[in-house]
Amino acid sequence: MRISTITNWAYALTVGLTLLSGGSFIIATHYADRERDALDIAWKIDEGVEVLARAAELTTEDARLFVFTGEQRYLEAFQTALAEERERERAIRVLREKGLPEEEVAALRAVEANAEILDAIEEQAVADFANGAENQAKAALFSPEHEEAQLGLLNSVSHFVDLVALRTRGEVEQASAQAELWGTIAKSMLALTALVFLCVLYFVLTRRVTRPLLRMSDVVQRLARQDYDVQLLSDGRRDEIGDMNEAIQIFRDNGLERERLDAERRKDQQTKDQILQLMHRLQACRQEGELAPVVALFASQLFPDLSGHLFIMNTGRTALVAKSSWGTPTLSGEEFPALECWGIRRGRAHLSDATNSDVRCLHLREQESSSALCVPLSARGDTVGALYFEEAEGGAALDNARTYVELIAENLALAIANLQLRDRLANLAVRDPLTGLLNRRSLDENLADLMQEDRDDPTALMMIDIDHFKRFNDQFGHDAGDFVMSQVATIITNVAGHGGIAHRYGGEEFAVIFREHDGAAALQKAEAIRHAIETAPIDYQGQPLGTVTVSVGVATTEDNRPKATLMQRADAALLQAKSSGRNVVVCDWSGRANRRLA
Ligand code: GH3
Ligand code: MG
Ligand code: MG
Repeated sequence: MRISTITNWAYALTVGLTLLSGGSFIIATHYADRERDALDIAWKIDEGVEVLARAAELTTEDARLFVFTGEQRYLEAFQTALAEERERERAIRVLREKGLPEEEVAALRAVEANAEILDAIEEQAVADFANGAENQAKAALFSPEHEEAQLGLLNSVSHFVDLVALRTRGEVEQASAQAELWGTIAKSMLALTALVFLCVLYFVLTRRVTRPLLRMSDVVQRLARQDYDVQLLSDGRRDEIGDMNEAIQIFRDNGLERERLDAERRKDQQTKDQILQLMHRLQACRQEGELAPVVALFASQLFPDLSGHLFIMNTGRTALVAKSSWGTPTLSGEEFPALECWGIRRGRAHLSDATNSDVRCLHLREQESSSALCVPLSARGDTVGALYFEEAEGGAALDNARTYVELIAENLALAIANLQLRDRLANLAVRDPLTGLLNRRSLDENLADLMQEDRDDPTALMMIDIDHFKRFNDQFGHDAGDFVMSQVATIITNVAGHGGIAHRYGGEEFAVIFREHDGAAALQKAEAIRHAIETAPIDYQGQPLGTVTVSVGVATTEDNRPKATLMQRADAALLQAKSSGRNVVVCDWSGRANRRLA
């Protein structure tokens, strides 16, 4: 049962008891009135009867005085007393008719009868005296009949008074007992009412006021300490305390909302800080290859609920290739044709969500509950790749991340484009555009580095010159000459392998540095290059250009030969190769053509 219901019942009980108590008091008062009335009536009857008896005595006295003195004034007094006595008798008769008990009525009649007998004797005596029979009148007033009637009157009055007293005592006792009973009931009710009232007051003060106030005070203090887990009162009461409680509820809701917004702002700030960090790292990357792991590292921290890939466009600009991954992406392939991605096609972020409300990218596997977001990496009007995220269940995390992902994509695209541009510019600066080999400047730098190094392992340098190259230009045209040059460069690069750094020295001349190669190893490589070129079939636009041969001069730093003269010595060896008939390898330490196969 609710506290308010209990309180209402208690209020009703208090009111009920108060009414009962009032009723009991009224009844008690009624019985007290009855007691008083009974006494009053008894007193009046007693008085009437006693006055009657005294009046009878007075009449007798006046009658006797008259018959003995014969004075007129006594006759008048007798007649007046008699009239008064008659009057009293009438009054007593009226009283008798007011419902006196039978016994009392009989006693009253006896009183009347005796009074009448006495009156009759005295009236007769007065009449006799008036008629001259004085002695007879005197004798009558002192006769035994008169005395008997007088005595009878006194006895009957006494009997009647006793009866009335007896009855009145009974009635008074009964009325006072009732009055006392109802008085006690009324007092008990009053005491009970007071008790219930006190209980209700206590209950209301403690349960309905004090306790809720103490609880609310505790709640407010905890809310002030930003402890929003505190349990609020929830009895839905509609009074002042209920209003205060509602206000506290609003206060807590506002606090919670403020805390949520603070947390969101902090999270947002944290994410932005991390994105800023990512951007700084991206800007610090020196090569495109360094970007991928940086992106994977930050993406996994920024979006722990998402998996994904960083795709970079291949050089042919036909396919996207995954360069790094985070989480466990399962939906997309790691390499796919660029046009399979709607993000790339449209040039803007594309969501392939679980509801299939939009077209799904073709590089995604069908999986109903998962969603994927492809954001193209576009900068300077060029698409350099795509940032790809997927979510296994639903799409809420993707939705939340989308703005951040697009922000990252914009910066990442710029960073990639910048690095690619830098690579292109660097290539232009250090590479020869025709053959793709490092240029003369690079050779100078590499040789300068070599000079500064303090290393014991030997280095070899070979100078390669195409024999009678002018003939290709003259015979097949300049383009064919270019083609021969690039073919020779490719063969040199392939045969030199990782150990050799090939450069175009100028014209149809090449220089290859071999680190950690002694003379014998270098000679072997030189011979292999010479042989590979000589035996390579070179056709230009379906037309065989004939055999291409090269002359090679090799020098080495082995046996403490000076680094500073490495170039001159290789050059000298090449000159010697030319002069010894071309298509040979000459090394500076033997001073003769090492081998000649053609
Ligand atoms: P040798 O065997 O003595 O080296 O004879 P060679 O004809 O190879 O040497 P020469 O120095 O007489 O001629 C080199 C020619 O190479 C001259 C030049 O026109 C040509 N040449 C230099 N650079 C290029 C180039 O980039 N493309 C083309 N097609 N020809 C070039
Ligand atoms: Mg030449
Ligand atoms: Mg030359």
